Amino acid sequence: MQNEPIRTKALVVRTANSGDNDRVLTAISQSLGKISIMAKGVKSLKNKNSAACGVLCYSDFVLKGGRELYSLSSADCVEGFYHLRDSVETLAYAAYFAALLEMCCEPSVPADDELRLILNTLYVLQNRPEDGALLKLVFELRLCELAGLAPYISEECQCGAAAEFFDIAEGETCCREHRGPNSARVSRAEMAVMEHILSSPLKDALFFTTPPPVVAALTPVCEKYMEYHLGRLPRQLEYLKSVTGPA
Ligand SMILES: [Zn+2]
Repeated sequence: MQNEPIRTKALVVRTANSGDNDRVLTAISQSLGKISIMAKGVKSLKNKNSAACGVLCYSDFVLKGGRELYSLSSADCVEGFYHLRDSVETLAYAAYFAALLEMCCEPSVPADDELRLILNTLYVLQNRPEDGALLKLVFELRLCELAGLAPYISEECQCGAAAEFFDIAEGETCCREHRGPNSARVSRAEMAVMEHILSSPLKDALFFTTPPPVVAALTPVCEKYMEYHLGRLPRQLEYLKSVTGPA
């Protein structure tokens, strides 16, 4: 039935103005994956739907039409993550997470796990803004895992020697002799952090602490890994780096 309304919860990851009053939303929906929504009238703050249609709003949408472009019937904000806007840094982390999520989701592919990951990460970021750099690692590695790109972390290379490097192209830890040209040196502590993030229940991965030098060392390794396997990283990463400074 073409005109049957569709109800879905989704996180708005991007908006673009359309004409004087309208916006086209890009959102990640549990059931529909990445969707575009024509939201008429929401540029006006008097519009009843406008509060639920901003970037980083997780909202309950009623939509019509489909596939290429849905049209908005109504939207109720479930969680607005308003405290992410309390600091430029926190908002920059959130914007980067949203852009990365958009890159890793496809139309018509349900995104339950991806949504659960970003919503939980944003909740924790809101409460523990000082842990942005660690939460970024957690979000990146867990998103890689959901995209089928989980790296393989072991204290031993396949040859049995102690692993001292992370091979970015192969996505696994290895010894000096078996590393490829695109490898980064990683310590035992750094491997243990990656392993913890990848193998723990999400709640435990999001609620742990590790010394800042370990986070700082893993940050470029994870970024290079994702850039290599995704082809590019969102431009929001450059902005994030400009506001957080060198790790
Ligand atoms: Zn080896």
